[in-house]
Amino acid sequence: MADNRSSPADPPVERFAPSPSGRLHLGHAFSAMLAHDAARAAGGRFLLRIEDLDAGRSREGFAAAIAEDLRWLGLRWDGPVLRQSGRADAYAQALARLEALGVLYPCGCTRADIAAAAAAPQEGADAPPVYPGTCRNRTAPPDGPVAQRLDLARALEALGPSLPRLGFTEIGAGPQGETGWRPLDPDALLRREGDAVLARKDAAAAYHLAVVVDDAAQGVTHVTRGEDLFAATALHVVLQALLGLPTPAYRHHRLIRDASGQRLAKRDDARSLASLRDAGASPDDVRAMVGLAPAETAP
Ligand code: GLU
Repeated sequence: MADNRSSPADPPVERFAPSPSGRLHLGHAFSAMLAHDAARAAGGRFLLRIEDLDAGRSREGFAAAIAEDLRWLGLRWDGPVLRQSGRADAYAQALARLEALGVLYPCGCTRADIAAAAAAPQEGADAPPVYPGTCRNRTAPPDGPVAQRLDLARALEALGPSLPRLGFTEIGAGPQGETGWRPLDPDALLRREGDAVLARKDAAAAYHLAVVVDDAAQGVTHVTRGEDLFAATALHVVLQALLGLPTPAYRHHRLIRDASGQRLAKRDDARSLASLRDAGASPDDVRAMVGLAPAETAP
């Protein structure tokens, strides 16, 4: 029987989807250039989406700076820019569908509750602890504002016989070797992602839901992202299957690190494209810094 992979025949639709919570750095440039170059080489489209769901951290000035940095790099996107802040209805529809499947539950936990309940300190400062399931079996709804979480075990159960056929096509090397089909590993997913938040207390949706809904709405066939999101991709495959959405191919790329081996973050202003440009770097210098050929010779 057919699995969930998308048809390779059509011209690809690639995208870059930054959050406007800081200046773009070398890691963003690498992601954007890989997606852009792949789209152009195959006669496909390259889309820009601004992931401004988090009103507290998003700034208009950063959204404008993203466009400016991309233009400076020589990247042009096709069609209008999609803003997640205008997509509340689409996210509400997706949440209603998941609710009807019985795979959501309200969660009133704070970050501090979750950290305190986590069995052991988690590896890596950036990785939030996997949710220990505190609110999953509550009989009464929690007090105060709630988030909506995916009951992952139930979701996997709801997928029933289609589960063994789920997976995605990896077109970058990714953390697990060669290009090829990556079957879903439900146990690894339960261990690494657990019951993810799909609607935040303070926003119409959370990243995992919005990214899946929007990639489908924009007809994205190829997603380029850092290999730190490899486990998240498996969760996205589950959400796509629950919502009846196609699964794109995924290109997980190596992370760009600073001289001490740390992955770059928005706070690393020294590696922002703006500071590199101010220091006299050219777009081809930026390409060389992340190991890409100059623009005119790129595929
Ligand atoms: N807004 C996300 C980021 O900047 C997008 C990642 C993705 O889904 O590819 O990390």
